Amino acid sequence: MLLLVLDGIKPDVLRAAIREGEAPNLAALAVAGEAVWNAVSVFPSITPAATAAIATGEAPAWSGIVGHAWYDAVERRVVVYGAMTETVISTGPIKVFHNNVWRMNRDDLHAATLFESLHDHGVDGACVNFPIRRGPHTHPVRMKTIESYLKSGRYLGASVEGPKEYYMGDLFYSRQTGFSGRKGSGGLRRSVGINDEYAARIGAMLVKEKVAPFNLVYFFKGDSIAHHKGLEAQRRYVAQADGYVGRIFEAGGGVGRVLEDYAVLALSDHGHDPLLPRGRYVDLRRIRGEKVALGAKARFSNGTTVVAVPNGRSALLYLRDGVDREAVVETLVLRRGVDLAAWLDGGWGVVRRISREVRFRPGDGPRDAFGRSWELEGDPRALDLRIKDDALRYGDYPDALERLWGCLYSTRCGDVILSASPGHTFGEISGGFHTASDHGSLHASDSEVFMLASGMPAPRRITDVAPTLLRHFVAESVEKHVV
Ligand SMILES: [Zn+2]
Repeated sequence: MLLLVLDGIKPDVLRAAIREGEAPNLAALAVAGEAVWNAVSVFPSITPAATAAIATGEAPAWSGIVGHAWYDAVERRVVVYGAMTETVISTGPIKVFHNNVWRMNRDDLHAATLFESLHDHGVDGACVNFPIRRGPHTHPVRMKTIESYLKSGRYLGASVEGPKEYYMGDLFYSRQTGFSGRKGSGGLRRSVGINDEYAARIGAMLVKEKVAPFNLVYFFKGDSIAHHKGLEAQRRYVAQADGYVGRIFEAGGGVGRVLEDYAVLALSDHGHDPLLPRGRYVDLRRIRGEKVALGAKARFSNGTTVVAVPNGRSALLYLRDGVDREAVVETLVLRRGVDLAAWLDGGWGVVRRISREVRFRPGDGPRDAFGRSWELEGDPRALDLRIKDDALRYGDYPDALERLWGCLYSTRCGDVILSASPGHTFGEISGGFHTASDHGSLHASDSEVFMLASGMPAPRRITDVAPTLLRHFVAESVEKHVV
């Protein structure tokens, strides 16, 4: 099995590249197998939450990984996994590094990863650069600059737990490959050899040597290109990424041969929404009637009533005890750029969009396309829901009820969660924001992803990836025993 995750590639962008002949390898995969262009990410549609969903099959509420940053009520501080460079700088590189590489997998991730579940079935895994990689094998830190920090012993551990084969630039590698080394390394603020070129080289090696039955290779540059330069630039990147995929196919004897030898799934973890040239930033440091703390050091002190943790086109709001949630929501949903607010109230999910409100919970009621039925109260138009007979259909917010439920249910997501209108963003924990394009919302624009699958059915949601892969391997082992 070969799982290729291309971070943040918008389905339309890949489709256009395929149409123009710029992505022949992914096109070959789409033709040979099944292509789904409107599969769905989780909410918030943010990389740590989405990659955790891919690796565990669980929504943020149950994986425990809810975004780039969240407020830990127990530790009374914001936890930042890092996104923009300035976020890393404002938080302190070692701390973000610690949170991203160590804490996220070790402490915060509550669900079993594919590497762990497959290991229980006797299937070894290989992982290149993917952020969610917890597994049954211990990997020592390989990089000298990190090793010197280890001596201080304050943040970084001497090793991490991962799959049998684990590669992440100069930081971790199960074997000497000749692809890691001094050339790529240059301190913590650089990419320390963690890049897409490296992913392609290691991916090719894994496929050529048939090292592991399950291989996960992660390409992430397409996301940051879109953030900074927009979707046209992302399309040019897709041509390059297709070349990386081509190199992996080539190493396995060509695309035809690889599709015979491997089940292959290529997907993105979330989409991208182009931002308006002006007025795109919704500054949550100002909420009428409240004293807001926002930033890596935000906490409840000196009269702070709201801790706001922006996550791109979504935002997690934590309210001090006694703060009137209704008043906060009322103010926010009227604000330009705020599409909707959602929260949990007495076992019900509640969504407010402008003046419309809908309440929902799993129970008797109309059934969504994935077979879950929902009890509804209020105005379904608040979430652009269409109900006909017993069927519930989604409009602008794909799989909205399940995705909201899979977020609101965790206290890590705060007391109110916001989703931005198309073209707008709440920015980053640093107080900065991406200029060209962003993601994180409940809206289709950044929620839809592509799935290209061969040798296995194409999942319709990123939370369906892990169960589908598990079934693939379990079915295969059953087949072998029968033979
Ligand atoms: Zn991103």
